[in-house]
Amino acid sequence: MKYALVTGGSRGIGRAVCVRLAQSGYQILVNYVRNAEEARKTLELVREAGQDGELLQFDVSDRMQTCRALEAWEKNHPDEYIEVLVNNAGIRRDNIMALMPEDDWTQVVDTTLKGFYNVTQPLLQAMMFHKFGRIVSLASVSGIKGMPGQTNYSAAKGGLIAATKALALEVARKNVTVNAVAPGFIKTDMVEGLDEAALKKTIPANRFGTPEEVAELVAFLVSPHAGYITGDVISINGGLYT
Ligand code: NAP
Repeated sequence: MKYALVTGGSRGIGRAVCVRLAQSGYQILVNYVRNAEEARKTLELVREAGQDGELLQFDVSDRMQTCRALEAWEKNHPDEYIEVLVNNAGIRRDNIMALMPEDDWTQVVDTTLKGFYNVTQPLLQAMMFHKFGRIVSLASVSGIKGMPGQTNYSAAKGGLIAATKALALEVARKNVTVNAVAPGFIKTDMVEGLDEAALKKTIPANRFGTPEEVAELVAFLVSPHAGYITGDVISINGGLYT
């Protein structure tokens, strides 16, 4: 059995990644924080794709919850390890910096950056011991170029990119790769409320991307074919930022 953990697997890009990695033969651990019903739907789709999996409810920004959930999984699977981690859970709380409440700064940064630490750190040893691991994190075009109204989100995603590059150097010798993907606008709940008609005029491809397109890129990065790609950030944005 090969296991992949996808944080924020209940909806959007995370769900598409769960289904795509199931198609690649992985048993899928679907993490979510609130939306049990949507997480169950993802698990159904994983099963329709011919694999099994389980739900792992925890808040990635909470170290205790995360460690408890991962330790419980390890206890139930003493001879197995999670060889693929997709750090996908993320939130946005947009506001101009002059008006941004502290909580909106903290929640966004904690979900992405503490989340990266909380989930990645406990899984690394097993990946290195088995001399195979794949870590892919969902960054954003905002983390590369910065976006007005998203100082918190840009800081979190920029930090995630830097962490990806640093960790990749630590673990490359152990055949563990660490990469990030940086989507532009992808059609999910996260972009609901944005003016798609106006925004797509700013995108050379003249459309938002789909979660399935991002999932395809993630599936390539976790595959054995991508073993020589590490510490990199791959943009997927219809030409929005090149
Ligand atoms: P989404 O549709 O809003 O889904 C977010 C997912 O993250 C949900 O499954 C949610 O779980 C989970 N989540 C949120 N906070 C969590 C926490 N503290 N612990 C565990 N899970 C948590 O988002 P999306 O558009 O698919 O985005 C996925 C990733 O891609 C994010 O990191 C986002 O920043 C990044 N991204 C998205 C876009 C875009 O245009 N959509 C662009 C660039 C980057 P519940 O269902 O339980 O709430």
